Amino acid sequence: MTMTRRLPLGSNARERFAALYSEIPDVQCKGLCTQACGPIAMSAFESGRMLATTGVSPAVDGEMSCIYLVRDRCAAYEVRPAICRLFGAVDSPLLTCPHGCGVAEGQRLLTDAEARDILHRAREIGGPSITVPIR
Ligand code: SF4
Ligand code: SF4
Repeated sequence: MTMTRRLPLGSNARERFAALYSEIPDVQCKGLCTQACGPIAMSAFESGRMLATTGVSPAVDGEMSCIYLVRDRCAAYEVRPAICRLFGAVDSPLLTCPHGCGVAEGQRLLTDAEARDILHRAREIGGPSITVPIR
């Protein structure tokens, strides 16, 4: 009988997240807004990595703006979670850029089902979803 050994949560998570994120097309953001940078949800691993990298836990301020937003730029860009990477990269009313920013040439928008699958796998790799608190 063949036994399948489950990897502990977070094992190789860095590499697995890199592979997962590589499935998301590059958004050609023109920097026209920050409206998506509000209360977001992410896996436990992604949240922990943001804390480890920036020294600050993910949260929103009293105006419901992400605390990593500094002068209209993401101060945690390299370790931003899957949901941030998906904004503008999905053919879905909730995740389409309202300013017409698209994806890089030769790439296509993900379908809603593909985006949901990526978020599902992010939770599988990185642990339960955490909605950032208000601070
Ligand atoms: S909504 Fe469009 S302009 Fe605004 S941050 Fe996203 S891609 Fe950039
Ligand atoms: S982590 Fe960065 S991209 Fe994501 S909501 Fe916060 S400021 Fe915006």
